[in-house]
Amino acid sequence: MSHAVVIKNAVKKYGDFVALKGASLNIEPGQFFTLLGPSGCGKTTLLRMIAGFNTVDGGEICFDEKVINDLMAHKRDIGMVFQNYAIFPHLNVGENVAYGLKARRVSAKEIDERVDKALELVKILPLKNRKPNELSGGQQQRVALARAFVIEPSVLLMDEPLSNLDAKLRVQMRTVIKKLQRQLDITTVYVTHDQEEALAISDVIAVMKDGEIMQVGSPETIYKQPQNKFVAGFIGISNFLPCTVEQVREGEHRIVLADGFSFTRRLRKEYAGEAILSARPEQIKFHPSEGLRGRIVFSTFLGDFVEYEVELTDGQLVQVNEYTKDSSSVIPEGAEVFLNFDSSVVGIYDSQSEEALTW
Ligand code: ATP
Repeated sequence: MSHAVVIKNAVKKYGDFVALKGASLNIEPGQFFTLLGPSGCGKTTLLRMIAGFNTVDGGEICFDEKVINDLMAHKRDIGMVFQNYAIFPHLNVGENVAYGLKARRVSAKEIDERVDKALELVKILPLKNRKPNELSGGQQQRVALARAFVIEPSVLLMDEPLSNLDAKLRVQMRTVIKKLQRQLDITTVYVTHDQEEALAISDVIAVMKDGEIMQVGSPETIYKQPQNKFVAGFIGISNFLPCTVEQVREGEHRIVLADGFSFTRRLRKEYAGEAILSARPEQIKFHPSEGLRGRIVFSTFLGDFVEYEVELTDGQLVQVNEYTKDSSSVIPEGAEVFLNFDSSVVGIYDSQSEEALTW
């Protein structure tokens, strides 16, 4: 049975330094939940608190309704996969996977069956008698995975499990992990600093910064409706442009950019003054005569789209992606262009608080 993991106002201090400043999360049973953020933001700290390897200096960690702050790690019914695999070098693949079952005094016959089934699931059954030093990085990570879930834990915790693999293998293994997690239906808390990996693998993502949770949501919500400028900049590519918001009438606002170019946009609350426009490269369109003036300084043909670098009259560089049929339709470098915005989807942020005004 998978647990819900509920974190209430959790605090972690290392001496005077507060690494986690009161984080609250609701992770549902069977959910694939990712802690995402830049290096040092507190992802591993929080994961280790859930695992029971770190003490909790404030707040509560609960599995379902039960507070487990003081429960020893080995009594928490968790499986853990680490960045460096942490498999035993002197044991072969089968013995590595059997380890946790032996410790739980499972019968020899059942151990054999469960180990074989686990190795089959991660597709390395033929490697059962090999030693870890006779395996590739990806195969070692499969052993670590099998060893974590063979004990049928209620919560699976993974700390950057793919970061030691090369780019291609990382993409393959994340699909393996995602399919396995779905099949086994285990509540999974996954740590990564790789935003693309987080978008691809998660049901829900919590974006963290400096020991705080910035936003919790589905990959689509996090990408399309970032709650603040940090999330907009950390997930995918965003162009940030200074602008002024003028209220036209109730619920309708005019966004004025450099050159005086403007468009209307509904905001979620009344606002007037300095603001920041955030536009993804695919949310900016070229227009024959109207828009923000610029000049193409670089273009890269990438198959189904062209990535343009456009220099605005104030010198700011903006990335624009345009879908294209073939390279003959690429706008030449040096050409003067006008940039228009997909006004119903771009984000507008308060210039002081950097919080979203649009959603
Ligand atoms: P990374 O992606 O680099 O692993 P992270 O988001 O997992 O980063 P943590 O390892 O949780 O970050 O660390 C959060 C902060 O706490 C960092 O500033 C780190 O230096 C500090 N920290 C972590 N462990 C300790 C410790 N044992 N003693 C003192 N400070 C620590």
